[in-house]
Amino acid sequence: MATTFSSSAQLSRRGALAGGALLLAGGLFATPRQAYAQAAPAAPSGPYTLPPLPYAPNANEPHIDAATMELHHGKHHAAYVTNLNTALKDHSQLAALPLEELLTKLAEAPESVRTALRNNGGGHANHAMFWQIMGGKDSTPSGELAEAITRDLGGLDKMKSDFNTAGGRVFGSGWVFVTVARDGKLALTSRPNQDTPLMEGTKVLFGNDVWEHAYYLKYQNRRPEYLAAWWNVVDWAKVGERYTAAKAGTLKV
Ligand code: MN
Repeated sequence: MATTFSSSAQLSRRGALAGGALLLAGGLFATPRQAYAQAAPAAPSGPYTLPPLPYAPNANEPHIDAATMELHHGKHHAAYVTNLNTALKDHSQLAALPLEELLTKLAEAPESVRTALRNNGGGHANHAMFWQIMGGKDSTPSGELAEAITRDLGGLDKMKSDFNTAGGRVFGSGWVFVTVARDGKLALTSRPNQDTPLMEGTKVLFGNDVWEHAYYLKYQNRRPEYLAAWWNVVDWAKVGERYTAAKAGTLKV
């Protein structure tokens, strides 16, 4: 990338813009062979693997299109997993930790891999959660989860509105989350890049990805439209299971 940018900088403005367009086209429409070519040579096989999507790539249409799901899961998430494994290759003690524990110990990780662990470990945790809590159709929160949303976040409509506002305010790439404490208390928060409340030891109930790669093919720059439409695919039964697990102390990422 550094080479590409420095050579672009030497071109005319028109040339640089064309170069940028080619870069974008290469990123979006690269064949699988090209896309994997960079990561393949030194990629170790573990300890992490890409979890399969728990539904077909078109399961969230029309709100999230199949092409976005395939790229997002099969390329972006896969790259986080590959890069996480690479960062852990020579650090067997860190590699043996559960992911949620690794994310609370970034400050203790060697500086040479700390940023890679933060970005790719966070990316793996965030996306593993993200696929789980989608695939829903016309569901609504129920039981203790619905009560907690009313008690802590002002009800479903207010929570959605505040969540969408927070998502719109993330500058650049990041996430919006609803976190859950061991006593069941919910809170709304956001993080830049692939950071996650797990890094502070706080469990994530659910969250939405506001990186452009999550919505750009269908919504282009219209992030608010994506944020509004995304609620249609949240699987509230799954979120309810996560809520129960959080209170039981068994929720992972
Ligand atoms: Mn993403």
